[in-house]
This record gives sequence, C-alpha cells and structure tokens, in this order.
Amino acid sequence: QLWDEAVAFTRDKSPGSFDQWFCGVQFDGLTDGVLCLRARNEFVRDWVDQFFMPTLTDHIRSRTGWSIQVAWTVGGELDRPAINPPPERSVREDASRITGPNWPSANEEAPWSERRVARPAPVQAVAPPLEGLNPKYTFSNFVIGPSNQLAHAAAIGAAGGGGPRHNPLFLCGGTGLGKTHLVHAVAHRVRAERPSTRIVYVSAEKFLNEFLQALQEQRMNEFRARFRDRCDLLLVDDIQFLASKTQTQEEFFHVFNTLHQADKQIIVTSDKYPQQLERMEERLISRFTWGLVADIQVPELETRVAIVRKKAQIEGIEIADDVLLYIAQVVRSNVRELEGTLIRLAAKASLTSRIIDLDFARAEIALSSNARANEASVEDVQRVVCHHFKLKSGDLLSKDRHKSVAFARHVAMYLCRERLKCSLPELGRAFGNRDHTTVMSAVRKVKALRGADPEVRAHLEALERKLGTAD
Ligand code: ADP
Ligand code: MG
Repeated sequence: QLWDEAVAFTRDKSPGSFDQWFCGVQFDGLTDGVLCLRARNEFVRDWVDQFFMPTLTDHIRSRTGWSIQVAWTVGGELDRPAINPPPERSVREDASRITGPNWPSANEEAPWSERRVARPAPVQAVAPPLEGLNPKYTFSNFVIGPSNQLAHAAAIGAAGGGGPRHNPLFLCGGTGLGKTHLVHAVAHRVRAERPSTRIVYVSAEKFLNEFLQALQEQRMNEFRARFRDRCDLLLVDDIQFLASKTQTQEEFFHVFNTLHQADKQIIVTSDKYPQQLERMEERLISRFTWGLVADIQVPELETRVAIVRKKAQIEGIEIADDVLLYIAQVVRSNVRELEGTLIRLAAKASLTSRIIDLDFARAEIALSSNARANEASVEDVQRVVCHHFKLKSGDLLSKDRHKSVAFARHVAMYLCRERLKCSLPELGRAFGNRDHTTVMSAVRKVKALRGADPEVRAHLEALERKLGTAD
C-alpha cells in the first residue's frame, strides 16, 4: 500500500529517531491528495511535520502526481500507529546516529510523555454559513459591460430579481474578471430581500476540506445536512479545484442532485467552460450545462474605464478622467490588476503629497510594473484561443497534428509572439516543449496568412478583441 511504502521510504532516508516519532502517528486515509494523519499530541505533529513530512509527501507525489496536503488531527486514541513502538533502547544512542545538519536531535524524553501531552485540539465548529463574503462585492458596485452583461443578468435572475432563473447557473471566465464578485452579490441581495433563505457559500476547496474532515471525524450526517437539507441557495466558487478529486466530486454530485431536485438554486463558478474542465466526472460536467453557462470575457476599454471610475469613487480617490483612461488603456487583461494599479497610485500619491495627474501615473506605472506583467499572459492567450476554436485546453500543448488543432496552435504562438513579445524558446517551452524553430515557422506562417487570407484575419481580429490587445 502506498502509505506503507512511503513510510518505509522515508524511514530509510531518516535518522534513527524516526520510529520513535512515527509510533505517535496514525494514518487515517489518503483521498484526493489530502493525507489525513493523527498525532498523539501537538509536539509529535510539529516534529513529524517539520522533519519527516517533506520526504514522505514528496514520495507520494512522485507516485501519484497529486500535490499532497496534510490534514492533521491531534489527540485521541491511536489504535493503529504507523510504526510499532520501538523496543526499549537508549534515546541517546539514536542521537548519535544522526548525521544530517538539519536533523532533529532525539529528545531525552519520549515525545508523547505525560509532561508534554498537549490538550486535544478543539473540535472545529462548522463555519457560519455566510462567512467570507466581501461586503463590497455588491450588484451596485458591479460595472456592467458587453463582456459581463450575460453573467450579470443571469446572476440577478438567480437572486430572484426578475428575469428567468437558470438552475444551475455556471459562471466562467479568467481570473480577476468578477466571478466571485457576482456570486457574493447574489448572496448579499438574497440575504437582504429574503432573510429566511438558507444560503451556503463555499469555495470548492473549502467544500473538499470540510468533506474530508467530516469523513475523518465521522460527521458525514452533519455535513450532508448542511449541504443538502439546510440549504436553499448553494454557491460554490472555483469548481475547477475539484479536478482529480474523485471522491469529493462524487459527494458534490449527490449534493447537486438533491438540491436540484428540490429546485434549490445552485451557482457554480469556474475558470473554464464545463467541457474544458479536466479530470472532472462527465456526469458532473453534463449537469453544469443543464441550466445556463454564462461566461465573462476581458472587459472592453469603455468598461475598464467605468470600473476604475467606480472603484475610485468607492475608495474616495480623486483622479482625473485622462488618468482613468490611461490606466484602463495600460492595464488590459484583469480587473483585479486594474484596481490594484489604482490603489497603488493613490497610496503613492498620498504618501508623497502629490495629485494623481497623467505624468505621475505614467511614471509610476512604468516604474512599478513592466507593462508585460499587466497584459494577458501566455495562459490567457491559450485559453482564449482554445475557447475560440472550441478545443480542449490540453490540445494546444499536445502532439495532435490535426489541421484544425495545429492551426489554432500556430495562431496562439503568433499572438503570444506579436502581442506579448515572448521569446521563441520561452514559447517553445510554453507550448508543450517544442523547438524554437517550430515556433518561428508557425509565427511566420500566420503572419503571411494574415495578409493573404481574410478568414484568418477575421479570426485574429476577433481573438485580439477578446484579449483586449486591440484597443
Ligand atoms: P474572479 O473571481 O473572477 O477571479 P473577482 O470577482 O475576485 O474575480 O474580481 C476581481 C476584482 O475585480 C474584485 O475586486 C472585483 O470587485 C473587481 N471586478 C471585477 N469585475 C468587476 C466589474 N464588472 N465591476 C466592478 N468590479 C469588478
Ligand atoms: Mg474568484
């Protein structure tokens, strides 16, 4: 079994005190990359965590490809310690075997000795349902533009504010484009207008952690009651996080079915379209498309200006129109960046008692960030191109030589090269480790086609609009 093998591996690589510590540890399960362990006390946990877990989790990662998260429980009876207690032997003897500079010196007292026993960790209470909502993420603070109109209208509908109500509502789009903002806005509105509605808001990551913890502590009934019975509106942020987490997907599938059958509204957000979600169960993907899939694109220049203006107004920042426009022109791909730039400028201006005029903004923006960092990234380009040509997200990096895939790949390389000024080797690496000469010829080919073929030109123009680089 993988756990035993990892323990043996780590034991091999560790000093003699290993057994002594590990007999205070119990293995409670390994699911979806989360390794559940129990330690006799906090001292054992900290020690094992610091000195042995890196090797152990590395080993599991290398065998499974999962990135491993360790979930510790402290206290309670260990009925199956990972290692049998070592036979009586002098701890000092062990200490003499320690060689590595970072190894712990074995302690004179057994780690779980009575004098060291820590209080058991308090049982974690289930989080109050609306914990973690940002009070500023309201509908009135959300700027509507062509890039997010559909998502906004659908969110209003889901909040019961008139218009059709789609169930589920699946909101998707790149990072920093307002998905979380919209979901919080729904929660605020429903809470204000129909306070008796039981709203559950979680990130997919939190869902996973709560699920695994419930499993481990045998509180599944409570978990299910929270998500299935005591829930009228379920908001799950960043569902892509459940990729490969099969058991959690399965649990979510049942939550989904129960709520959907009872006609309870479900909203899910994701950085990808349902069909592009990787390592996600087909039956979940298909359910995500039962209602409405509404995407959010990179906002157009006008929307970006309006967003900066709104943000300045909310934060009480005085800023001239030409500066607003300048910021919106320079920062193109991500609303979070847009806000960050404004806040940074305001902070710097107030620190140096200057007003934010165009010269100041120019100089500061040039200083604080090379324009590159603000533009679309290679991943953004790949995502937009995939969506445009209706490909799966891995296709561009694959060895697939089908004409349509190869063409999309060439276009993506061209856009990265022309718009992001990436180097050829950099692009080769970013596109599935291809040779830089391959990239070069792809870029040339597309450049030539752009001049010669109106259809290709139309594709490129559409893509550039989506990437916000054509303003
Ligand atoms: P996502 O969840 O899609 O990664 P967020 O919802 O966290 O993005 O948005 C990032 C930041 O941008 C937030 O501060 C949010 O308020 C702001 N934002 C995004 N879109 C808009 C918009 N249309 N109007 C106002 N603020 C926006
Ligand atoms: Mg978000």
